[in-house]
Amino acid sequence: MNFAFTPQIMPFVVAAFVLTLLVPVAWANRRDPAARWFAATLVSLLVWAVGYCLEILAVSLQDKVFFANVQFFGVATVSVCWWEMVRRYLDLRRIPRLGTAILWLMAAATITLAFVNPGQIFRGTPFIVSNAAPFPVLHPSYGPWYTWVLLPEIALINAAVLTLLGRAAFKAKRFYRRQFVLLMVALALPLAGATIYVFNLSIWADYNFAVALSGLSGFLMGMGLFRWRLFSIIPLAHDRVIENLADGVIVVDRDDRIIDINHSAERITGLSRDAVFGQAAASVLSAYPLLVDVIGAPEQDYLATSLRRDMVTERDGIPRYFALSSSKVTGRRREPLGLIVMMHDITERVRLFEQARELANKDDLTGLPNRRHFFELTAKEFERARRYREPVSLLLLDIDHFKQINDEFGHRAGDRLLHDLAQAWRRELRSSDVIGRVGGEEFAVLLPETDLEVAVEAANRLRRATELMKLELGQTTKVGPMAVTISAGAAQLQVSRAGELEALDSVYERVDRALYEAKRMGRNAVVASDPVPGLRAVI
Ligand code: GH3
Ligand code: MG
Ligand code: MG
Repeated sequence: MNFAFTPQIMPFVVAAFVLTLLVPVAWANRRDPAARWFAATLVSLLVWAVGYCLEILAVSLQDKVFFANVQFFGVATVSVCWWEMVRRYLDLRRIPRLGTAILWLMAAATITLAFVNPGQIFRGTPFIVSNAAPFPVLHPSYGPWYTWVLLPEIALINAAVLTLLGRAAFKAKRFYRRQFVLLMVALALPLAGATIYVFNLSIWADYNFAVALSGLSGFLMGMGLFRWRLFSIIPLAHDRVIENLADGVIVVDRDDRIIDINHSAERITGLSRDAVFGQAAASVLSAYPLLVDVIGAPEQDYLATSLRRDMVTERDGIPRYFALSSSKVTGRRREPLGLIVMMHDITERVRLFEQARELANKDDLTGLPNRRHFFELTAKEFERARRYREPVSLLLLDIDHFKQINDEFGHRAGDRLLHDLAQAWRRELRSSDVIGRVGGEEFAVLLPETDLEVAVEAANRLRRATELMKLELGQTTKVGPMAVTISAGAAQLQVSRAGELEALDSVYERVDRALYEAKRMGRNAVVASDPVPGLRAVI
């Protein structure tokens, strides 16, 4: 076998060299099926390039034809590998396997026919043209299989791949679009070269540019592989997950510019992707200061742990609650790339929590604050009264002879009375007064900004309102209406000169004693814990 060197093979040597370097890189990413087929594509291109180099270098016609045939291992398979790669890259699962199997059979047929060449179906009589290109080239004299089967097949596959990539680029978000465009360019380059070769458009007949350009396209793909991590995330699959997530997702870059926002986040914030893309988060999300806070949190805040905060939005007047969490996106060398903020809808949880809290604070029968909650509120009010040096008083009410009412009219009627009295007293009090059920038929009233004298007046108002209440007897009882009365004690919170607050227990004890006194004095009475100037203690 004789070879003669010509400098014109350099573009093809460079292409082969680049492809050789790229194969292991692609193979290193083989966990991704698309990367596996990328490696296969590179190998096909490499076989083609090396075969072409040898074809040029070979001197005899027989050797040139042999290496020309060897190239068909690459030529016949490269488009199919491409197809396999793009199919996986775009995550197209619905393509029937049979179609792909046929493509592989066609490739096998092409290679076999190239070597066997029965009835000159693949090649006529090839010869060497020494004056067409700067070096002697083989005029391949392709036969009908090449012209009518192989070329149309390759054209069809590439048209399909270009269409799929174009469609994906059109549908993809701007962030990923360049990846598809890059793949399209990488594919279009050797295609353009091949077109020139096939249609003999070049001044150098039979000089195949496709091969030289394949190195460049392999390089472009490799760039995508490194720079934009073409295969590290399958963009469409990734898109689909993020898009269908019920949680809102906003991705910002290092400069806090929004580079991604999913459907849920659009719905939550009422912003559209097109309007916010590339915009500064602080300006487009100004209606959500907490969100801006999370995004703009200083580096050390979101370093290792992620932030969690709750955000409230309002849609159609109904508040919605979101738990915010963020996590940093870092590159290979842990350099910061941006931040992902997730908004998880916790409205239902908040609602249940509020409901549970309300239930825990309320007395079932009367709807009033229960004993525990009443004392909670009282403690708070006492503290407030001390701070602002305002008087505050407490009343304790107890229904007289309630046991008898129960005995005579039944427990159910007693319950009704408790409920109705609670409503009646509520109406007699100011909205800032708090009334709570502190025992079976015992109620306490907290009167903010009220001294003992006014407190006694209020107690008497309640006492009189009670007298006016008539127990609704219904038709089942025979006794007739019965008067209901209450006894009440009143006490004012004492604050020492030094500003020291009297303990709640102590006030309660005093007011309880006053109530006992009212009972002892004959009931339907109000007793103050201390003498009130200008007022008789017992009314
Ligand atoms: P006094 O005038 O001395 O306060 O007499 P009284 O009968 O009201 O006093 P006592 O404390 O002896 O009785 C309170 C009664 O209240 C006993 C209990 O059966 C009744 N009672 C307590 N809680 C409820 C309730 O939730 N519903 C009803 N129907 N009755 C209750
Ligand atoms: Mg009692
Ligand atoms: Mg009682």
